[in-house]
This record gives sequence, C-alpha cells and structure tokens, in this order.
Amino acid sequence: MIDAKTEVYGIIGHPVSHSLSPTIQNFAFCYHKINAVYLAFDVTDLESAIRGIRGLGIKGVSVTIPHKVSVIPLLDRLDELAEMTGAVNTILNKDGLLIGYNTDCLGAILAIKEKADIEGKDYVILGAGGAARAIGFGLKKEGANIIIINRTYEKGEALARALGGRSYPWDRIREISGYCLINATPIGMWPNVEQIPISREYLRNFKVVMDAVYNPLETRLLREAKRLGLVTIDGLKMLVYQGVAQFKIWTGRDAPKEEMLKVAREILG
Ligand code: NAP
Repeated sequence: MIDAKTEVYGIIGHPVSHSLSPTIQNFAFCYHKINAVYLAFDVTDLESAIRGIRGLGIKGVSVTIPHKVSVIPLLDRLDELAEMTGAVNTILNKDGLLIGYNTDCLGAILAIKEKADIEGKDYVILGAGGAARAIGFGLKKEGANIIIINRTYEKGEALARALGGRSYPWDRIREISGYCLINATPIGMWPNVEQIPISREYLRNFKVVMDAVYNPLETRLLREAKRLGLVTIDGLKMLVYQGVAQFKIWTGRDAPKEEMLKVAREILG
C-alpha cells in the first residue's frame, strides 16, 4: 500500500522505458514488505534531476545510459569501485548526502563467481565500453589477468593499461586463448541475434564463456559455447545481481535474488 510514509526510489536514464529494474526492485520491496516504491524517470536534464532527488528526498536511484559518467560531479562522495571505474550506477541519499556506487562490478563478479574461478586466471574481455570497464575493474580487484580486445584498438589499449593488463587488435581475436572469454559488446543483441563475436572453432581456446548481452537470454555465443561443453554465464545474472547489490546498499537487506531472476526471466522469455 502506498501512503504518506512510502519511500521513493527509481532509475534515471534515457531511454528507460525498456528497463527491467522497476519490476525486479518493486518485487524485492514487496517481498520484504518494505513501504517503498521504485519508478522509472526518463531524464535528459541531469542536473535538475539530481536537484530533484535532494529536494524531494528520494532515497536512492539507479543510474543508466547515458548518465553513468556525467553524474559524478553532481554527487557528494564516491565509493571505491565508482572512483576506480569512473562510473556510477547507484546513488544512495544518506540524509541529504548523495553517495555514488558502482554495482555493475559487483553484479558481474557475483555472476562469475557462481561458476568460475577468478584469481590468477586469464580473462579475455571483448569491448572497452561501460560494461567492459565495470567487469574489468571488478575482475582486477579479484586478482584476474586481463586481456582486452576492442574494435577501436586505442580505446582497448587505454582500458588495458588502466587495468594493468594487455590488449590486442580485434583482427587477432582468433589467436588469443585464456580461461574465460567475456563478450562486453552488443554483438548478438536483439534484433541481431545471429551475430557472434568469434567463430565457434576458436571458442575451444576457453573453458568459460560469459555474455553481458541479456536480450536474448541465450545468445548465439552462449549456445555455441554450450554445444562445445563449455561453462556459460548469461548477462541476466549480471543485471539482476547488480540490482541485488543496489538493494543491499539502499535497505541493508538481502534481496531475494533467485525470485528476482525468475521474474526477469519470465519477462524476457
Ligand atoms: P558501450 O559503452 O556503448 O560500449 C560498446 C563496446 O562494444 C565498445 O567497446 C565498442 O567498440 C564495442 N562494439 C560495439 N559494436 C561493435 C561491433 N559491431 N563489433 C565490435 N565491437 C563493437 O556499451 P556498454 O554499456 O558497454 O554495453 C555493451 C553490451 O553490454 C550491451 O549489449 C549492453 O546491453 C550489455 N550490458 C549488460 C549489462 C548487464 O548487466 N548484463 C550491463 C551493461 C551493459 P568501439 O570502442 O570500437 O566503439
């Protein structure tokens, strides 16, 4: 029931109408019987939106494309991972103090740890955008060796340098092997569902394959990896687990992650 004590949370981004976050976060609030609501705010004027959070006492927000970097100077404080990655996907309003966090890192690491080892292992990340940065910094913190392969080589090289790793040009993708391959590009995302970043024969160079893409749930990359008997990790887990980490920051409670995953799978399915 919504009443005068209902706390307001939300997501700010542009566009946001496709976001799964309102469904899974409201599910978690209901599950714990917390008097709170989570709404989607389509924001183009970021400064006004942040003033609105302060002015209206909104308790917390998720931040998505295109505001993850530009929101930083508008906040009062950053946590270590947000500082490290240079991107914020979560804001906590702590008695008027706006603190920025990055739970994309945590989401990726939680999803990976369920099925794979990290410390000392060679992780090959395709891409050097927001998802690659979050995954890369999360993996670096956990002691992985990181190799970045990006279409725009200079961008990949800059990220690899920041991660203390190595980088290779995109056309050398077939020569690279490692423990885990992670696709952090939109290749294979709906509607281009038949696209795959690396042909099947070269997937044998890896033991584990993860895709940050979650629409479709099973990308062609993951399908081919499964056929080869490799361990696979889908992008939905990263998405839901970053939401679980946000819920913990906002409420101090453990979100019902299996149930949230089920709800998200039903929507995407
Ligand atoms: P982004 O910041 O725009 O970065 C996109 C990256 O992909 C860039 O490195 C770009 O290379 C590369 N790229 C794009 N098209 C390519 C192509 N046709 N061939 C080769 N490389 C290509 O995007 P992002 O936020 O990192 O998102 C990337 C994917 O991850 C999206 O599908 C997104 O939905 C997904 N994602 C998932 C989660 C999750 O929780 N599961 C979270 C965030 C993002 P250049 O540098 O050459 O442009």
